[in-house]
Formats: sequence, structure tokens, C-alpha cells
Amino acid sequence: MNNLTAQITRNVADIRGRIADTTARCGRTAREITLVAVTKYVGPAEVRALVEAGCTVLGESRPQQLWEKAELLQDLPIRWHMVGHLQRNKVRRTLPLVEMIQSADSPRLIAAVDRIAGELDRRVPILLEVNISGESAKHGFEPEAVEPFLEELAGYRNVELRGLMCIAGLQGGPDAARADFARLRQLRDRLRENCPEGIVLDELSMGMSADYEPAIEEGATMVRIGSALFEGNR
Ligand SMILES: *Cc1c(COP(=O)(O)O)cnc(C)c1O
Repeated sequence: MNNLTAQITRNVADIRGRIADTTARCGRTAREITLVAVTKYVGPAEVRALVEAGCTVLGESRPQQLWEKAELLQDLPIRWHMVGHLQRNKVRRTLPLVEMIQSADSPRLIAAVDRIAGELDRRVPILLEVNISGESAKHGFEPEAVEPFLEELAGYRNVELRGLMCIAGLQGGPDAARADFARLRQLRDRLRENCPEGIVLDELSMGMSADYEPAIEEGATMVRIGSALFEGNR
């Protein structure tokens, strides 16, 4: 095992250990949590090391980077998740490469995904990105806009809503992040009460390197972790 793989393997073990401790503290199990390793800061060598360390669900926030890495790393059993803003003119090239779009952030994008997925004869799992912190720089649905959109979504045949995703506000540290996560879970719980038929909202993708523990305590089922995986390498 080379140094890079050894370091990343240690980091993965540390993070998985923290996930296990956190779930145990709040009466959940680590199996309920999907670790999505975000690779936007690193190149193919680090991605290979991650896969060797057992991480195969990977996230990219830029479509071009996802395309490049998916092409270079075709030999690996990677399940790519798109986690950043996807422009509509990049949907066609992205869809065949991804298992899920976590960052479905507007009705127009989702309409385009539905249409192109139909042409490609695919059904694409998505999460609705919600701008839960209300920061103007963030993409995503306003919280109040989600419920009205669900009726429209129920008419789409080629996208499959699985849940909600958010990025906590940048200000305020872990306590403010926890409040954002709690609000996303409450929104999900409220939506579930009168969801159109066929819409499932089981997944909550929330929590990154700095705040995945509070996110899990507040109900996250997916945590998206980047920088903490690569510590000690640079
Ligand atoms: C970069 C990124 C992450 C990971 O961030 P870290 O703080 O490095 O763990 C998670 N989600 C999204 C959408 C990102 O762009």
C-alpha cells in the first residue's frame, strides 16, 4: 500500500468510526448512513486510493470534472453522484455517468433531466436541493417552494424523487448548521404527510467535513465528505 492509500485509508477509518459513534449515540446504526466521498479537490490518484479504501459512492460538484474522472476511472466500480450545480446544457452528457443527481435545484433543470432521461431510456434518482439557510448565493428551492412543486414532479416519468439535500449556512459554525439540518428534516417530515402518490422522501443528504456529526444526529442518511478524507496528504 503506498503512502497516499495508507493515509486515505486511515482517514476513511476515522470518519467511519465517528459515523458509527454518532449513530450509536442517537439510536441509529451506521448502515443507515451513506458516505459520499466528494472528490472535487483531488485528482485520479486520490480517487483510486479512495476506492481501494472502500469508498465507491463518490460525489463531484462540477460536471466537467465528473466527466473527466469518470472517463479516466472507468475500470473502477464507482457510483457517481452529482452534488453541485448542473447546467441544463450539461445534462445529456452527465446522465449516463451518474447514479443520482443530489443537486436538482430548479424546476427547469428537473424538466430537462426528465426529458433527456426519457430519450436515454433511463429513470434518474434525484434529491431536491433546498436553500435552507436562505443565503442568496446558494442554489436550490426555497423551502416554501418545495411542496407546490411536488404535484408537478409527480407527473414526471423519468425522474424519481428520493429526498432532500442541503448545504448548511457558512456563518455560525456547527450550532447554526445543526439548526439548518433540523429545518430540512422538519420540512421533509411535513411534506411526507401529504405527498403525492409515488413520491418517496427517505433520503436526507446533509453534513460535510465540518458538520456531519450534527447532521447525522438530525437525521442525515447521506453525508458528503471531501476535505476530511484527504487530510495529512498535503
Ligand atoms: C465540496 C462539497 C462537499 C464537501 O465539502 P467538505 O467540507 O470538503 O467536506 C459537500 N457537498 C457539496 C455540494 C460540495 O460542493
